[in-house]
Amino acid sequence: MKKNLLVSIFLIAAFSTASAADKLRITSFSTILTEIAEKVGGDHVIVSGLVRPGIDPHEYEPTPSDLKRVGDAQLILTAGKHLENYLNKLQEASGGKADLLKVGDHLPDLTMKAEDGGSTALDPHWWNSVRNVEQATRVVRDELIKLDPAAQADFAQNATVYLAELDDLNRWVRSKVAELPRDRRKLVTSHDAFQYFARDYGFSISAIEGVSTETEPSNRRVADLIDRIKKEQVKAIFTESTLNPKVTKEITRETGAKIGGELYADGLGAGDASTYAGMVKHNVATIVDALK
Ligand SMILES: [Zn+2]
Repeated sequence: MKKNLLVSIFLIAAFSTASAADKLRITSFSTILTEIAEKVGGDHVIVSGLVRPGIDPHEYEPTPSDLKRVGDAQLILTAGKHLENYLNKLQEASGGKADLLKVGDHLPDLTMKAEDGGSTALDPHWWNSVRNVEQATRVVRDELIKLDPAAQADFAQNATVYLAELDDLNRWVRSKVAELPRDRRKLVTSHDAFQYFARDYGFSISAIEGVSTETEPSNRRVADLIDRIKKEQVKAIFTESTLNPKVTKEITRETGAKIGGELYADGLGAGDASTYAGMVKHNVATIVDALK
Protein backbone atom coordinates (compact mmCIF):
# COMPACT_ATOMS: atom_id res chain seq x y z
CA MET A 1 0.00 0.00 0.00
CA LYS A 2 2.63 2.45 1.09
CA LYS A 3 4.84 1.43 -1.81
CA ASN A 4 2.02 1.92 -4.30
CA LEU A 5 1.38 5.37 -2.96
CA LEU A 6 5.03 6.30 -3.40
CA VAL A 7 4.99 4.97 -6.94
CA SER A 8 1.89 7.02 -7.71
CA ILE A 9 3.48 10.16 -6.31
CA PHE A 10 6.55 9.50 -8.39
CA LEU A 11 4.48 9.01 -11.55
CA ILE A 12 2.45 12.16 -10.95
CA ALA A 13 5.64 14.14 -10.44
CA ALA A 14 7.23 12.65 -13.55
CA PHE A 15 4.31 13.36 -15.84
CA SER A 16 3.05 16.68 -14.49
CA THR A 17 6.23 18.59 -15.31
CA ALA A 18 8.41 18.17 -18.34
CA SER A 19 11.80 16.72 -17.36
CA ALA A 20 14.79 19.05 -17.67
CA ALA A 21 15.97 17.38 -20.87
CA ASP A 22 12.61 18.04 -22.55
CA LYS A 23 12.47 21.68 -21.61
CA LEU A 24 13.03 24.39 -24.16
CA ARG A 25 16.28 26.21 -23.33
CA ILE A 26 15.99 29.96 -23.76
CA THR A 27 18.56 32.70 -23.29
CA SER A 28 17.22 36.21 -22.85
CA PHE A 29 19.02 39.53 -23.29
CA SER A 30 16.23 41.67 -21.88
CA THR A 31 14.91 41.61 -18.32
CA ILE A 32 11.38 42.22 -19.67
CA LEU A 33 11.66 39.30 -22.11
CA THR A 34 12.99 37.06 -19.33
CA GLU A 35 9.77 37.72 -17.40
CA ILE A 36 7.58 37.18 -20.49
CA ALA A 37 9.34 33.91 -21.40
CA GLU A 38 9.03 32.59 -17.84
CA LYS A 39 5.35 33.56 -17.58
CA VAL A 40 4.35 32.16 -20.97
CA GLY A 41 6.73 29.18 -21.01
CA GLY A 42 5.92 28.03 -17.47
CA ASP A 43 7.06 24.44 -16.82
CA HIS A 44 8.06 23.85 -20.41
CA VAL A 45 11.05 26.20 -20.50
CA ILE A 46 14.32 27.00 -18.74
CA VAL A 47 15.08 30.69 -19.15
CA SER A 48 18.58 32.10 -18.58
CA GLY A 49 18.28 35.85 -18.17
CA LEU A 50 21.76 36.99 -19.16
CA VAL A 51 21.09 40.73 -18.99
CA ARG A 52 20.21 40.81 -15.31
CA PRO A 53 18.06 43.36 -13.45
CA GLY A 54 19.94 46.60 -12.84
CA ILE A 55 22.39 46.06 -15.71
CA ASP A 56 22.54 48.87 -18.29
CA PRO A 57 21.60 47.10 -21.55
CA HIS A 58 23.30 49.85 -23.60
CA GLU A 59 26.65 48.95 -22.12
CA TYR A 60 26.23 45.19 -21.59
CA GLU A 61 28.58 42.84 -23.46
CA PRO A 62 28.14 39.05 -23.32
CA THR A 63 30.78 37.25 -21.22
CA PRO A 64 32.35 33.93 -22.30
CA SER A 65 30.03 32.06 -19.90
CA ASP A 66 27.00 33.90 -21.35
CA LEU A 67 28.08 32.82 -24.83
CA LYS A 68 28.41 29.23 -23.60
CA ARG A 69 24.76 29.41 -22.50
CA VAL A 70 23.84 30.74 -25.92
CA GLY A 71 25.62 27.77 -27.50
CA ASP A 72 23.34 25.45 -25.55
CA ALA A 73 20.07 27.35 -26.20
CA GLN A 74 17.27 26.62 -28.65
CA LEU A 75 15.90 30.15 -28.54
CA ILE A 76 17.67 33.50 -28.10
CA LEU A 77 15.50 36.49 -27.18
CA THR A 78 16.78 40.00 -27.76
CA ALA A 79 15.05 43.37 -27.35
CA GLY A 80 15.83 44.29 -30.97
CA LYS A 81 15.39 47.71 -32.58
CA HIS A 82 19.20 47.89 -32.83
CA LEU A 83 19.69 47.87 -29.03
CA GLU A 84 22.13 44.95 -29.09
CA ASN A 85 25.35 45.54 -31.00
CA TYR A 86 26.63 42.00 -30.27
CA LEU A 87 24.19 39.95 -32.37
CA ASN A 88 27.01 38.54 -34.49
CA LYS A 89 28.66 37.16 -31.32
CA LEU A 90 25.39 35.44 -30.39
CA GLN A 91 24.99 33.97 -33.85
CA GLU A 92 28.57 32.75 -33.81
CA ALA A 93 28.15 31.19 -30.35
CA SER A 94 24.95 29.43 -31.37
CA GLY A 95 26.37 28.16 -34.66
CA GLY A 96 22.95 28.65 -36.22
CA LYS A 97 21.44 26.01 -33.90
CA ALA A 98 19.04 28.40 -32.14
CA ASP A 99 16.27 30.68 -33.32
CA LEU A 100 17.19 34.34 -32.74
CA LEU A 101 14.03 36.35 -32.08
CA LYS A 102 14.49 40.14 -32.06
CA VAL A 103 11.18 40.80 -30.35
CA GLY A 104 11.17 44.59 -30.72
CA ASP A 105 11.46 44.28 -34.47
CA HIS A 106 7.88 42.94 -34.45
CA LEU A 107 6.58 46.11 -32.73
CA PRO A 108 5.91 49.58 -34.17
CA ASP A 109 8.91 51.94 -34.44
CA LEU A 110 9.37 55.39 -32.95
CA THR A 111 12.41 57.44 -33.86
CA MET A 112 14.09 60.43 -32.29
CA LYS A 113 16.31 63.19 -33.61
CA ALA A 114 19.96 62.45 -33.04
CA GLU A 115 21.97 65.04 -31.12
CA ASP A 116 23.33 66.58 -34.32
CA GLY A 117 19.69 67.49 -35.12
CA GLY A 118 19.85 66.02 -38.61
CA SER A 119 19.74 62.27 -38.56
CA THR A 120 17.19 60.21 -36.67
CA ALA A 121 17.76 57.16 -34.49
CA LEU A 122 15.45 54.27 -33.75
CA ASP A 123 14.20 54.31 -30.16
CA PRO A 124 14.71 50.83 -28.69
CA HIS A 125 12.79 51.37 -25.42
CA TRP A 126 9.53 49.69 -26.52
CA TRP A 127 8.94 48.11 -23.07
CA ASN A 128 7.95 51.44 -21.52
CA SER A 129 4.60 50.99 -23.29
CA VAL A 130 2.41 48.34 -21.65
CA ARG A 131 0.63 47.82 -24.97
CA ASN A 132 3.96 46.96 -26.57
CA VAL A 133 4.67 44.43 -23.82
CA GLU A 134 1.27 42.87 -24.53
CA GLN A 135 2.22 42.58 -28.20
CA ALA A 136 5.66 41.19 -27.27
CA THR A 137 3.89 38.53 -25.16
CA ARG A 138 1.97 37.38 -28.24
CA VAL A 139 5.16 37.32 -30.31
CA VAL A 140 6.96 35.17 -27.70
CA ARG A 141 3.89 32.92 -27.29
CA ASP A 142 3.74 32.23 -31.04
CA GLU A 143 7.48 31.46 -31.15
CA LEU A 144 7.22 29.02 -28.22
CA ILE A 145 4.31 27.25 -29.93
CA LYS A 146 6.40 26.98 -33.10
CA LEU A 147 9.31 25.41 -31.18
CA ASP A 148 7.22 23.10 -28.95
CA PRO A 149 3.81 22.52 -30.60
CA ALA A 150 2.92 19.79 -28.08
CA ALA A 151 2.74 22.45 -25.36
CA GLN A 152 0.56 24.83 -27.40
CA ALA A 153 -2.42 24.69 -25.02
CA ASP A 154 -0.27 25.55 -21.98
CA PHE A 155 1.52 28.41 -23.76
CA ALA A 156 -1.79 29.85 -24.93
CA GLN A 157 -3.33 29.56 -21.46
CA ASN A 158 -0.27 31.06 -19.70
CA ALA A 159 -0.22 33.94 -22.18
CA THR A 160 -3.90 34.64 -21.61
CA VAL A 161 -3.33 34.87 -17.85
CA TYR A 162 -0.30 37.17 -18.25
CA LEU A 163 -2.08 39.35 -20.82
CA ALA A 164 -4.95 39.84 -18.36
CA GLU A 165 -2.41 41.02 -15.74
CA LEU A 166 -0.94 43.47 -18.27
CA ASP A 167 -4.40 44.73 -19.10
CA ASP A 168 -5.05 45.41 -15.41
CA LEU A 169 -1.68 47.18 -15.23
CA ASN A 170 -2.53 49.37 -18.23
CA ARG A 171 -5.83 50.33 -16.62
CA TRP A 172 -3.99 51.24 -13.41
CA VAL A 173 -1.53 53.42 -15.38
CA ARG A 174 -4.36 55.22 -17.17
CA SER A 175 -6.15 56.04 -13.93
CA LYS A 176 -2.92 57.19 -12.25
CA VAL A 177 -1.96 59.41 -15.23
CA ALA A 178 -5.49 60.86 -15.19
CA GLU A 179 -4.58 62.52 -11.85
CA LEU A 180 -2.26 64.77 -13.85
CA PRO A 181 -3.80 67.62 -15.91
CA ARG A 182 -2.82 67.41 -19.60
CA ASP A 183 -0.71 70.60 -19.48
CA ARG A 184 1.45 69.06 -16.74
CA ARG A 185 2.30 65.93 -18.70
CA LYS A 186 5.83 67.09 -19.53
CA LEU A 187 8.48 64.54 -18.91
CA VAL A 188 12.16 65.51 -18.69
CA THR A 189 14.36 62.46 -18.19
CA SER A 190 18.07 61.78 -18.18
CA HIS A 191 18.12 59.63 -21.30
CA ASP A 192 15.53 59.44 -24.04
CA ALA A 193 13.74 56.24 -23.08
CA PHE A 194 10.10 57.21 -22.69
CA GLN A 195 8.79 57.98 -26.17
CA TYR A 196 6.59 54.86 -26.31
CA PHE A 197 5.28 55.71 -22.85
CA ALA A 198 4.65 59.34 -23.91
CA ARG A 199 2.77 58.23 -27.03
CA ASP A 200 0.47 55.96 -25.01
CA TYR A 201 -0.35 58.38 -22.20
CA GLY A 202 -0.20 61.84 -23.77
CA PHE A 203 3.11 63.21 -22.44
CA SER A 204 5.58 65.48 -24.21
CA ILE A 205 9.20 64.56 -23.57
CA SER A 206 12.69 66.01 -23.45
CA ALA A 207 15.83 64.16 -22.54
CA ILE A 208 19.19 65.29 -21.26
CA GLU A 209 21.02 62.52 -23.12
CA GLY A 210 20.04 60.74 -26.33
CA VAL A 211 18.51 57.27 -26.69
CA SER A 212 21.70 55.67 -25.46
CA THR A 213 23.29 56.17 -22.05
CA GLU A 214 26.73 56.07 -23.63
CA THR A 215 26.92 59.66 -24.87
CA GLU A 216 27.47 62.72 -22.71
CA PRO A 217 25.14 65.63 -23.46
CA SER A 218 26.62 68.66 -25.24
CA ASN A 219 26.55 72.11 -23.63
CA ARG A 220 24.09 73.29 -26.27
CA ARG A 221 21.71 70.44 -25.56
CA VAL A 222 21.79 71.25 -21.84
CA ALA A 223 21.26 74.99 -22.52
CA ASP A 224 18.27 74.28 -24.80
CA LEU A 225 16.78 72.02 -22.19
CA ILE A 226 17.16 74.64 -19.46
CA ASP A 227 15.29 77.14 -21.68
CA ARG A 228 12.49 74.69 -22.34
CA ILE A 229 12.07 73.70 -18.67
CA LYS A 230 11.79 77.39 -17.71
CA LYS A 231 9.40 78.27 -20.53
CA GLU A 232 7.10 75.32 -19.92
CA GLN A 233 7.35 75.63 -16.12
CA VAL A 234 8.22 71.98 -15.66
CA LYS A 235 8.14 71.21 -11.94
CA ALA A 236 10.43 68.19 -11.84
CA ILE A 237 13.00 66.23 -13.83
CA PHE A 238 13.79 62.55 -13.49
CA THR A 239 17.15 60.87 -13.19
CA GLU A 240 18.80 57.52 -13.51
CA SER A 241 21.87 56.44 -11.63
CA THR A 242 23.90 56.46 -14.87
CA LEU A 243 23.63 60.19 -15.47
CA ASN A 244 26.43 62.59 -14.68
CA PRO A 245 25.19 64.31 -11.47
CA LYS A 246 26.93 67.57 -12.39
CA VAL A 247 24.57 68.07 -15.33
CA THR A 248 21.47 67.37 -13.23
CA LYS A 249 22.70 69.84 -10.61
CA GLU A 250 23.23 72.53 -13.23
CA ILE A 251 19.73 72.07 -14.63
CA THR A 252 17.98 72.12 -11.25
CA ARG A 253 20.00 75.18 -10.16
CA GLU A 254 19.23 77.09 -13.36
CA THR A 255 15.54 76.20 -13.61
CA GLY A 256 14.30 75.71 -10.07
CA ALA A 257 12.86 72.32 -11.09
CA LYS A 258 13.31 69.66 -8.44
CA ILE A 259 14.54 66.09 -8.86
CA GLY A 260 11.35 64.05 -9.16
CA GLY A 261 13.01 60.73 -8.45
CA GLU A 262 14.74 57.85 -10.16
CA LEU A 263 13.10 55.97 -13.01
CA TYR A 264 13.76 52.48 -14.31
CA ALA A 265 14.12 53.29 -18.00
CA ASP A 266 16.05 50.29 -19.28
CA GLY A 267 14.40 47.34 -17.62
CA LEU A 268 13.78 45.67 -14.29
CA GLY A 269 15.71 46.61 -11.18
CA ALA A 270 15.75 45.71 -7.51
CA GLY A 271 13.01 45.73 -4.87
CA ASP A 272 9.65 46.99 -6.08
CA ALA A 273 10.98 47.10 -9.66
CA SER A 274 11.88 43.41 -9.79
CA THR A 275 8.71 42.63 -11.76
CA TYR A 276 7.46 44.39 -14.88
CA ALA A 277 4.26 45.54 -13.16
CA GLY A 278 6.30 46.79 -10.20
CA MET A 279 8.68 48.67 -12.48
CA VAL A 280 5.87 50.39 -14.38
CA LYS A 281 4.00 51.30 -11.19
CA HIS A 282 7.18 52.73 -9.66
CA ASN A 283 7.85 54.84 -12.78
CA VAL A 284 4.31 56.12 -13.22
CA ALA A 285 3.77 56.89 -9.52
CA THR A 286 7.13 58.72 -9.39
CA ILE A 287 6.31 60.78 -12.49
CA VAL A 288 2.72 61.65 -11.59
CA ASP A 289 3.37 62.44 -7.92
CA ALA A 290 6.29 64.77 -8.75
CA LEU A 291 4.49 66.68 -11.51
CA LYS A 292 1.15 67.10 -9.72
ZN1 LIG B 1 18.00 53.22 -22.48
